[in-house]
Amino acid sequence: MSVDRRDQLVKAVHASDWHTIDALGWHAFFADLAAFWPRKLTSDHALAYARVLGGHDPVMVTAALAALAETGQAEYRPGPAQLAAAIARTGTGAKTNATPKVGRPDQHPITLGRVRDLLGDGHQICGCVGPRQFNQNAGGVMRCAKCHGIEQGQADNALEQLDEEAA
Ligand SMILES: [Zn+2]
Repeated sequence: MSVDRRDQLVKAVHASDWHTIDALGWHAFFADLAAFWPRKLTSDHALAYARVLGGHDPVMVTAALAALAETGQAEYRPGPAQLAAAIARTGTGAKTNATPKVGRPDQHPITLGRVRDLLGDGHQICGCVGPRQFNQNAGGVMRCAKCHGIEQGQADNALEQLDEEAA
C-alpha cells in the first residue's frame, strides 16, 4: 500500500483531473468501472474507490474488477469494499498463496484478450535482439521500451488461449 499514491489519486479524482488519473495508471480502471455496469458512476462513488483502493497497484485492481464481472460474481457494480475483499482473496496483495498465475496481470485472461485485440488490429510483436526492457501498461499489456512491440511470450500465450477456446 502506498499512501502517497493514494492521496494523489484521491486528489485527482476529486478534481476530475483525468490527465493525472491516467498518469497514475488508473484510467483503465475507472473506464471499466463506468462501462461494465449500467448505473451511472457518480463522482462521490469514484472518490470512494480512490480512497479505498488507491494504494493498490492499478493493474491488479483493474484485473480484479474484470474478474468479478467476467465470472458473474458482480451483477451490480461491486463497491470499493467488495473489490478490496476480492483483491485480498486472490492474493494479489501477497505473494504467499494461490496458484502461480494468480497475481500475474500480464497473464490474466482479460489482458490476453486485449493482446489478441491489439494483434488483430495489426499491432506488432517485439522482434528486438539482445537485452530488452518491457513496460506494462495499465491494461497489463507488456510493450518493448524500444520498439513498442508486444512482448513475444505474452503474444504467444494470448494466441495459445485462442487455440484452446477454439478446440
Ligand atoms: Zn522491441
